[in-house]
Amino acid sequence: MAKGKSQYATWFCGDCNRGNYLSYYPRNRGDEIVKGLKKFCPQCRKHIVHKRKDTKKGN
Ligand SMILES: [Zn+2]
Repeated sequence: MAKGKSQYATWFCGDCNRGNYLSYYPRNRGDEIVKGLKKFCPQCRKHIVHKRKDTKKGN
């Protein structure tokens, strides 16, 4: 198991609100948290700003 210092985030399309990407990043103090990223949405078939939502591994 990891030491619990990592964080998972799901990126939701700002248009159709579909969760398209799951990313994993180390959680460091003072890190700037990115709230929006432009990614390709396969449902809209274009690049849309995706919103980040933190998730936990497991369940
Ligand atoms: Zn979309």
